[in-house]
Amino acid sequence: MDDRSGDAPGLAGKRAVVTGAASGIGAAVARELAGADADVLLADRDESVRATADDLAAAGHLGGRVEARVTDLADLDAAAELGEGADIVINNAGWQHVSPVHRFPPEMFGEMLRVMVEAPFRIARAALPAMYAAEWGRIVNISSVHGLRASPYKSAYVTAKHGLEGLSKTIAVEGATHGVTSNCICPGFVRTPLVQRQIAEQAELHRVAESQVIEDVLLERTPVKRLVEPAEVARLALWLCGPGSASVTGSSFPMDGGWTAH
Ligand code: NAD
Repeated sequence: MDDRSGDAPGLAGKRAVVTGAASGIGAAVARELAGADADVLLADRDESVRATADDLAAAGHLGGRVEARVTDLADLDAAAELGEGADIVINNAGWQHVSPVHRFPPEMFGEMLRVMVEAPFRIARAALPAMYAAEWGRIVNISSVHGLRASPYKSAYVTAKHGLEGLSKTIAVEGATHGVTSNCICPGFVRTPLVQRQIAEQAELHRVAESQVIEDVLLERTPVKRLVEPAEVARLALWLCGPGSASVTGSSFPMDGGWTAH
């Protein structure tokens, strides 16, 4: 007997939208969902999202359609359009800016909240009526350990991710009787362009090897001394879209090598 029976997330006929899908975690989640036969719309402000979608389609063996849309989530009306008709929403787009609170650029703070909290709200707001009508929907929010804990110099990111956690829980309690679940994944440091940029900057700043930055700086508080891989996050996202997780909602899943266990 297939020990994954009952848990196999066959998503044929489901329409998924993944934001920030040009690279990193978003691209990996799009790949997992397409592999489970969902129709996947990859959205990103970066033009390279088209190439990411082409690569995915070229890999073959997909049951569903793969499309790309170049869109900046700072345009909230454009963000809302992404939610229309979606059965699965993966709120993933985001970025980091490091600066102490008293020097943090106010316009950057506002834009990070707009893209990382208000856009997910607008996408979910547009998606929920059809999800309720179908009595099925899945919202997966790529939060962070910084949705659960603070670090210095990351005020906008920490504030945005805590806000995303609140939005996710509210959607969960409202959607519960409509077959809609909403959950957060809270990764530690994941091997993506976002983190690779930070590693290179720190190595240059401290004049040390990148491997030393990973072990001594990034993973100082992390018992598992390696970066999380995007595919690991993507597999959890896929499980949250499948039948085995129907009772899981309003939850947050650290995937952080034990960082928040300290
Ligand atoms: P990434 O830089 O590889 O990908 C992020 C994508 O979001 C990029 O393709 C970027 O173009 C897109 N994006 C940013 N702003 C956008 C906007 N306004 N409109 C449309 N697209 C936009 O980064 P990643 O590491 O894959 O991060 C993905 C998510 O995971 C982010 O929300 C990040 O906060 C979260 N996360 C990452 C890590 C990590 O260590 N990499 C850890 C925890 C959480």
